[in-house]
Amino acid sequence: MEYEAIIGLEVHAQLLTRSKMFCGCSADYAAAPPNTHVCPVCLGMPGVLPVINKRAVEYTIMTGLALHCKIAEFSRFARKNYPYPDLMKGYQISQYEEPLCYDGWLNIEVDGVAKRIGIIRVHLEEDTAKLTHVGEYSLIDVNRSGVPLMEIVSRPDMRTPEEARQYLIKLQQILRYLGVCTGNMEEGAMRCEANISLRPAGSQEWGTKVEIKNLNSFRSVKLALEYEIARQTELLERGERVRQVTVGWDEQRNVTFVQRSKEEAHDYRYFPEPDLPPLYISREWLEEIRSRLVELPDAKQERFVREYGLDPKDAAVLVAEREIADYYEACVKAYGDPVKVCHWISGELFRLLKATELPMSQVKIAPAHLAELLKMVDANTINLNTAKMVFDEMFHTGRRPQDIVQEKGLAQISDADELLRVVQQVIEQNPEPVQQYLKGKEQVLSFLLGQVMRATRGKANPQLAGELLRRSLRGE
Ligand SMILES: [Zn+2]
Repeated sequence: MEYEAIIGLEVHAQLLTRSKMFCGCSADYAAAPPNTHVCPVCLGMPGVLPVINKRAVEYTIMTGLALHCKIAEFSRFARKNYPYPDLMKGYQISQYEEPLCYDGWLNIEVDGVAKRIGIIRVHLEEDTAKLTHVGEYSLIDVNRSGVPLMEIVSRPDMRTPEEARQYLIKLQQILRYLGVCTGNMEEGAMRCEANISLRPAGSQEWGTKVEIKNLNSFRSVKLALEYEIARQTELLERGERVRQVTVGWDEQRNVTFVQRSKEEAHDYRYFPEPDLPPLYISREWLEEIRSRLVELPDAKQERFVREYGLDPKDAAVLVAEREIADYYEACVKAYGDPVKVCHWISGELFRLLKATELPMSQVKIAPAHLAELLKMVDANTINLNTAKMVFDEMFHTGRRPQDIVQEKGLAQISDADELLRVVQQVIEQNPEPVQQYLKGKEQVLSFLLGQVMRATRGKANPQLAGELLRRSLRGE
């Protein structure tokens, strides 16, 4: 029997606010010594009162709008109770029945086919403290406690691990475009949990859902889902039942392991947070936030295709990061010819970025300098191979192409007399290939041209050199 997987994702994203969700402590906790970004509020002392971080609300609304959600005029914080040592108050302030944003969607593309994935809700809550287990002891760092956390819950609309991966990639792009979260999964700034069930293909019933925790990379998400599909398929084929459990993902062994069963599930005893008033979002504020939204990846891709005549696939590569898209547009503005600029960026620049593992933000080539380089090729001052060499040097030093070409004497030789001397020398030094050519072996010409390029250290104007070579060989 064929089975169909039903996959939904819950993503937690740390918001890039300066202060924490309910107190004035710095939310930039990662580099700080343990337990230095703390105060009575985020330490959960009795009698203290939380105050809502306005910027965190704004970031969540921005995200909701980017995900085509409805934004509630009134929403409410709730207490989620559970006893665990990383929760300083013994409860977490979260949102429950009345989230800030709900009922949205985002588009993904797998193998050229577009698919819309529903978003159930986007809500705000606070992060927990960090526990480090050392032998019999646990160390606690409260710096992370109270950092604003946004939870984005998808509908169970995904059917394959690859769709789940694409959803996460798209979500990460959007969060980064908005500047509300770094999106760095390896640092825990964006964390993912998946739920997955199987059902016979074509069936409308729901299977038993398994939750997978601790997914810290795109790769783990895909591998863990593939593992669960195989595991659950095997159970169902043996006529056994899938148990409703929460599993963890073991990155070392590439397996899931049971963390707790349904019987052990927490009863969170949610109730409205008595220390906070309901959150009222005026429609004026909402419209003001909407007016500040940046152009998002999908819209940008569409515009690049329309405005610059790019292939949709090329455009997708350029819009994957906002910095790259901005850089591309600056280069087009400086040079013109959007297709040629696209090829240089997705070809030469990406090759060097990959080789050096540098982020786009550290690229030293000014858009005006790239334009200058391409104009030198257009003007036949340098040939294409030299241009690539110069580009490499520009990438590493940030210098002007003209300076590099001048200093290294890379300007192309387009002087016919000078080139003719080289051509005649090459003909004299290669009597055998010349004979072969004269007997009709046309391919030998590229060998002879290669010798001309070598003799000029790659600086000969290839068109002119080829023409002179052919004419000389014919005895003209
Ligand atoms: Zn604090």
